[in-house]
Amino acid sequence: MTEFDFIRRYLKQQNDADVVLGIGDDAAIVRPRSGFDLCFSSDMLLKNVHFFADVSPEDLAWKVLAVNISDMAAMGAVPRWALLSAGLPELEADWLQRFCDSLFALAQRFGVTLIGGDTTRGDLVFNVTIAGELPQGQGLQRHAAQAGDDIWVSGRIGLAAAALQCRLKKCELPPAVFAVCEQALLRPFPRVALGQAVLPFARAALDISDGLAQDLGHILQASGVGATVWLDALPTLPELKTLLPEAQWQACVLAGGDDYELVFTAPAEQRRAILEAAQRSNTPVSRIGIITETGRLKITRSADDDSEIQLTNTGFDHFDSI
Ligand code: ADP
Ligand code: MG
Repeated sequence: MTEFDFIRRYLKQQNDADVVLGIGDDAAIVRPRSGFDLCFSSDMLLKNVHFFADVSPEDLAWKVLAVNISDMAAMGAVPRWALLSAGLPELEADWLQRFCDSLFALAQRFGVTLIGGDTTRGDLVFNVTIAGELPQGQGLQRHAAQAGDDIWVSGRIGLAAAALQCRLKKCELPPAVFAVCEQALLRPFPRVALGQAVLPFARAALDISDGLAQDLGHILQASGVGATVWLDALPTLPELKTLLPEAQWQACVLAGGDDYELVFTAPAEQRRAILEAAQRSNTPVSRIGIITETGRLKITRSADDDSEIQLTNTGFDHFDSI
């Protein structure tokens, strides 16, 4: 199979009325709806860094696209168009078919059209650039958090990290628990509906790719604020709390990345609006803390117990300097 067979047979399969010129030319042309700004993001995935070499083509395709769609979700944007650049060691028909079936199934599900990319022979690597639409002048930006805001997180966190720990033989989980965690690691579900639903009410947001503490730290730094986060309020798989040693469980929920859940802040007056938005978008959310003026991240046991938890895992050191 040649590069051009690959492009023609596998990649050109979607229709989109707003794509003026799709795959096949030097560049693509799209027409955003009037009243919308365009929003761009790009994410690269490398073998042995972002995925294990033995990952299935279906899971790989899902993750390559899902993490990019997740960036659109974190802005409150509607994902629309993607470009896929791939380094492939060979063009193997069965592998590519499986990869593309999964890729386009996810793309269709989220209304994303593949409009171009690049293909080269090389070690397995993928880069997706995604574009989405935002109502003009809107967008959930990291610098917008204010003291007094509630802090919310979607879904459950720490699962992907637990699966990773397990794969690295740093813990053991019963097969059924591991399966749930591995699903979070391999198939993160982009919170697009939630991002759009909270767009009118939330202030700052991002998707958690590098761990709650570090990623929330980006919001704090950009906004010039601090935060108190309640450990017991963090949504996770209950089994992890009982099966893992305390320090490892804390590390998974606070420092573990790869869950791609949204963390966002919103004024306390919007609490009801946020809960309704969550319900409308069929996405569970948890209120996990509050933005403060302290300029640092403080972890306590709960909202009622204000004594600070000293994190035992040294990986947390850098949070002290936020
Ligand atoms: P050029 O030589 O102008 O860079 P290419 O020959 O690399 O163009 O690509 C031909 C067409 O196929 C372009 O429209 C490009 O966007 C598209 N394309 C190439 N690789 C991919 C890919 N991995 N995914 C999606 N589209 C691709
Ligand atoms: Mg060209």
